[in-house]
Amino acid sequence: MHRYKRIIDNHIYVMKLIRKGSRWFPFLLILFSIMRGINVFMMTTYLYQYVLNSLQEGEELLSIFLAVGGMSLFSLFYNIVLQYKNVAIEITSYKIEKQIQKTLQDKAVSVDLGCFENPEFYNCYVKALAEVSQRALRTLDNICDLIVNVITIGSIGTLIFMIDPIFVLLAVLPFAATILLGEKQNSLKYDRDMKNQEISREKDYVQRIFYLSEYAKEMRLTEMHKVMLRKMHETVLRLKANVKQYGYTIMGLEYSLAIFYDVVVYFSSIFIAAYKTLVSSTMLLGDCFVVINSITNISYIIGECGRNIMAFDENSHYIDNIRNFLEYENKTPDNINGEPAGPLEKMTFRNVSFSYEGQGMETLKDISLNISAGKKIAIVGHNGAGKSTLVRLLLHFYEPTSGSVEYNGKSIDEYQISSYRKQFSTVFQDFHLFSSATIAENVMACGHLLEWQKVEAQKALQKSGIYEKVNSLPKKMDTIVGKEFDLDGAVFSVGETQKLAIARAIAKNTEIVILDEPSSALDPIAENKIFESIFENFRDKTVIYILHRLSSAILADKIYLLEEGRIIEQGTHSELIAMNGKYADMFRKQAEKYVNFEEGGIT
Ligand code: ATP
Repeated sequence: MHRYKRIIDNHIYVMKLIRKGSRWFPFLLILFSIMRGINVFMMTTYLYQYVLNSLQEGEELLSIFLAVGGMSLFSLFYNIVLQYKNVAIEITSYKIEKQIQKTLQDKAVSVDLGCFENPEFYNCYVKALAEVSQRALRTLDNICDLIVNVITIGSIGTLIFMIDPIFVLLAVLPFAATILLGEKQNSLKYDRDMKNQEISREKDYVQRIFYLSEYAKEMRLTEMHKVMLRKMHETVLRLKANVKQYGYTIMGLEYSLAIFYDVVVYFSSIFIAAYKTLVSSTMLLGDCFVVINSITNISYIIGECGRNIMAFDENSHYIDNIRNFLEYENKTPDNINGEPAGPLEKMTFRNVSFSYEGQGMETLKDISLNISAGKKIAIVGHNGAGKSTLVRLLLHFYEPTSGSVEYNGKSIDEYQISSYRKQFSTVFQDFHLFSSATIAENVMACGHLLEWQKVEAQKALQKSGIYEKVNSLPKKMDTIVGKEFDLDGAVFSVGETQKLAIARAIAKNTEIVILDEPSSALDPIAENKIFESIFENFRDKTVIYILHRLSSAILADKIYLLEEGRIIEQGTHSELIAMNGKYADMFRKQAEKYVNFEEGGIT
């Protein structure tokens, strides 16, 4: 019972999804299906029976002509609607597909960041993406086909029943066979497809690697391409084995069904009808024609009906994937009834500890810190100390395992995530420029760029020190980023990309700015300049910046030194130097390198 309820629920769910793209589309298709069912009955069965029997029984020619004329007119009208429907379906399908993809993409950007590190979730996402648009329309098609088939079976079945009930019995046998074997066939096909998709994910990754520009250099300079090709070869072998494993069983089931149709249904019913008409003369010619012509048709349609019903089950499996993804509940859910976040007064980490899912070890341990509005905070520490993780928690990408992150005295859970995140501009280490968008669009990062926003983009580019380069490009700020979609596209060095990232942060003009290694790719002079520009541009803002080179930490109001997930030292640069602890040691070692370099080389 639960299974059938789930199937019905899933179909209602998918209809709602389709109606988001086009409100009336499902109803119009259903209406059309009813017309199609009537047309099939009239033109493939009733017309012949009526004409042959009427002639054999000596009916008036005029009334035969009138009836045939009426049926032909209906069929003509149906065919006009059919042509219109074919065009309308093509146009509307795109609209529906776009809307469904949008629903999925909206969900994809709202799920926890951690989801993308979880293979189970990722598989679910890939399955949903691969299936969603096609499957939704296929589900609707299946409902429409079922309607046509039910009308056809109902009408032709009644006609055949009136001729002789034995033919109805012969016609329904394939239905029972389809139900019996179809369920097995469906679950086999589903298992095969799901395994294929899982294996294909790795294959798709390898394919991507070969055309993505960020991998191009490593692929040429190392033997990684061989490793990747081997992976690809292995996945193809696994795909082959999977298809083979299921293929023969599915083929066997299909063959059994075909034999059943041919031997049991067709031959026996043709023999009985011919015998009754030609030998025992107990059947009219029109009725014999209906049986011979329609029994194959109707038993096929009954079989189809069985397949339609089984397809409800099959589609429901796939809809489960779509639902699992769209109904996924975030571990850091948005508090839609929460308060909008106002301007920052202070942010607090109160005894925060955190471990990534599936990792026993804590990445952050008992972190407590305070950040007041307008302050410049530097977070320093060795690789893997937990600096970026701290920032991710601050941005509410993850939930602390214990303790709380507070904003203006309240846990950040109490704010609407979107309004909370709007308070921050960020520059991450792995900042990405988006190909196919212009430089101005990349800087402003908003839906539709207006003229005044272009002016803002220009100012931001000037402030981050990359405007000269942008201005030298043929289309200036309107140049497309990357060469993937435009041969005249702009290619930026890593350092220039970081400057563009800073321009994006400047343009966003928020109260809090987070910079995760904003200068890691810059030479010391450029780094100095960029920090001068950061401190100049974000003079009135709260700035939290992560860095390895401590020369720029000097400017901070407070420095936190992290080691193995703990804050081990904190204070201003002079306080930490006076403390003569690990920070002072790190600072001295880095400074020595520069001194030695100036004196004749790095030691
Ligand atoms: P770096 O200076 O190298 O950028 P960091 O101090 O910013 O390092 P984090 O990126 O916060 O360090 O990582 C801290 C630890 O958490 C590392 O050991 C890292 O392997 C681990 N880690 C980071 N991200 C994840 C993740 N998504 N899942 C599991 N572990 C992670």
